[in-house]
Amino acid sequence: MSKNGNRGGLVVFEWRDGFTGRRYGFTKEQQDAARRLVAGLLEAKLKKEVGDDLRALADAAAAFWARDYYRLVFPLAFGREVVDGGVRAVFLDDPGDRVDQTAVFRRAPLDGAARPPLLPAGGRAPAEYLLADVVLVRAALANIYCRQRGVDPGLLHVLRLACFTGPLAAELAASGFDLPEEVRRLVDFLEGDGEPPAELDAEDLRRLWEAGAVAAEEAMDIAPASFAVTVVVGAVQRVKQYVFETPGLNEIRGGSEILSDVTERLAVDVATELGAEVVLRAAGSHLEFLVPDAETGAAWEARLRREFVAATGGVLVAAAAETLPVRDLLGDYYRAMGRVYQRLEAARNQTRPLYPETLPFEERCAICGQRAAEGWYQPPEGDAEPICRVCLIKREWGRDARRDKTRELEEQLRGGGRALWGLGADAGLPQSLDDLIVGHPRRRLVAVVYGDGNNFGAVVQQLKNIAVARQWTCRVEAVTWSATALALAEAVRVSVPAPHAAAKEAQRKPSLPFQVLALGGEDIGLFAWGPVGLRFAERFVALTDREFTPAPGHDGARICFSLGVLVADAKAAVARTVAFSEGELLKWAKRAARNAGYRDGGTIAFLVVPTADQIPGDLDDFQQTMYYREGATFPVCLTLRPVTAAELGFLLDRAARLREAGFVGALGRMAAAFVRGEPRVAVLYYLYQKARERKGRDDGGFTALLEDTRERPPTLADLDFAGRVLGTRRPFGGEPVAGGRETYFAPLVDLAELVKVLE
Ligand SMILES: [Zn+2]
Repeated sequence: MSKNGNRGGLVVFEWRDGFTGRRYGFTKEQQDAARRLVAGLLEAKLKKEVGDDLRALADAAAAFWARDYYRLVFPLAFGREVVDGGVRAVFLDDPGDRVDQTAVFRRAPLDGAARPPLLPAGGRAPAEYLLADVVLVRAALANIYCRQRGVDPGLLHVLRLACFTGPLAAELAASGFDLPEEVRRLVDFLEGDGEPPAELDAEDLRRLWEAGAVAAEEAMDIAPASFAVTVVVGAVQRVKQYVFETPGLNEIRGGSEILSDVTERLAVDVATELGAEVVLRAAGSHLEFLVPDAETGAAWEARLRREFVAATGGVLVAAAAETLPVRDLLGDYYRAMGRVYQRLEAARNQTRPLYPETLPFEERCAICGQRAAEGWYQPPEGDAEPICRVCLIKREWGRDARRDKTRELEEQLRGGGRALWGLGADAGLPQSLDDLIVGHPRRRLVAVVYGDGNNFGAVVQQLKNIAVARQWTCRVEAVTWSATALALAEAVRVSVPAPHAAAKEAQRKPSLPFQVLALGGEDIGLFAWGPVGLRFAERFVALTDREFTPAPGHDGARICFSLGVLVADAKAAVARTVAFSEGELLKWAKRAARNAGYRDGGTIAFLVVPTADQIPGDLDDFQQTMYYREGATFPVCLTLRPVTAAELGFLLDRAARLREAGFVGALGRMAAAFVRGEPRVAVLYYLYQKARERKGRDDGGFTALLEDTRERPPTLADLDFAGRVLGTRRPFGGEPVAGGRETYFAPLVDLAELVKVLE
């Protein structure tokens, strides 16, 4: 391990976050402590395997590095803590340029404010490589290499185990954990001492070992020229169409669960047959992994298609395999993978729906109304109805509460199980969108939240090496799930006050006020009771912004998330609300983030429409009609949307205070004056109201509450609800225009819409 720097007189080990430019420094003592801690966790994992089965030990070690370790260190910037029985996020201090010698390391994922036990790869590896990245790449290449050359399976697993334990061999030995003799000998060889068993080619192995732990350009020269591996990719086509094709929450949840379950099962199959280190990605309904040769690749291709079709009753899957020189994977990863994806694209075009047409005499499924019925199901009320195979499988899965993303979230938050949401230990999954509603609010509003990452494409294009690519994939997954779990826990606690919670718990079968969906990739999708959905959006973007805040001067693209949130009547058609949230609001939010150069991080575009028929047909028209006034002297924009997390938090808090103070009516009248009348007249009305308050003739406080400058985010420092220019802010997050007219912002409508959700 190298000494990478010297800060404040302390010799430190350093790891650089390649995606934000942040640096994490450690003293020698800290690095030793982190290594002992990680070795202890690895040892505990190995000790769970009984007997001397080297293969089982190697598989356990592979799972430790490929899954447990990344979930332990990511996210870097936040953890979870329990306060008054409720789970909430805690931000970790940015170490900045100093080394915190009192730092304590996490012993489990999201372990309070303890710091992640980062182990830099060290040696000649670039500063952003983690030891885990290097361990996994070396093991994967050694694994494939041995299989190609027909090396005895026993020896293969000895070599794998040597790859996984070698870097921490000293720590393992010091704690009394004895590696088998043959593993120790191979560790010594890999570290540069002695010879390998005759079956292994010493020269090739050393080259692979070295190539796995150096910068991309260098790896190109070191890796054996003739060594190639086959990459297999499988991806479900039109995931959204499959999940949202029918309106019922049970079928939607079922569809999402089936896809994530079969993906996970296939990843386990690959890990069992070939080793977890060869799996590059397994999330949503997308798989990427390495196999020894084209023949094995073709077999897996067929198997992926078959398994997805069998699990779903007929979903479109594209799969492809491509053989690539290892030099390209190590030195030119993005371009090399591009070749695999070209293949996938070609395979995609050949995919045909399995249920093309319904013949005129066939009875159609009562749920999807498209495919031919193959059986019957009994709805809660009424007679049995015809159902197709696809809908039947979804329905059965959706009704099975044992399998659900909610359980994964609860595991992620460690502690409390179902009870952590504050709605009782036996709260069930919502069976319909109406079940999401808590208590008896004035309007039965459901939020449809849809989101994804900004700049992920740009990040992926920069990935030159397979090691960093894997780190990125694992980090995105860990951060997305942790942020989702914590944001929901906080949103439910804030939005469901104790009396509501008690009322909900008193129901015969209380249900949770949210449903998270797995949609593949870094897509975020969930349904929630209106207030929970809005709070979730705010917390989720705040957490992910924190994780990916770039270091000062970092020149890479800023990573952040954008969300679309449509809050509409629980009876609105799901196909319509999802399409609007994803197709219109999310796109709007992403556009605004891009136009701002991602300066303030992620963005949220929300819209509250109490009835389904108010969902705009054309968002641009709607924006102009509802929120924009040309004005005689200057244009006025009546909304701040899309907003940042801090801005949404501010607006939600202000809306809640107005409601508590009994100003819902006053707010509605004032907002209507801006929407319906001339801005000039509306401003006069506002000033008149303010003057009355000052004289104490009216029940004072409405404008005073609006003008309270406390807790305003910096981007709204100049805010005046009666109208004010806000720096360079453009209407609807539009592109900055040089020399254009300044726009005044008078965003009372934002508060008026949010209050409707809180009533
Ligand atoms: Zn159907």
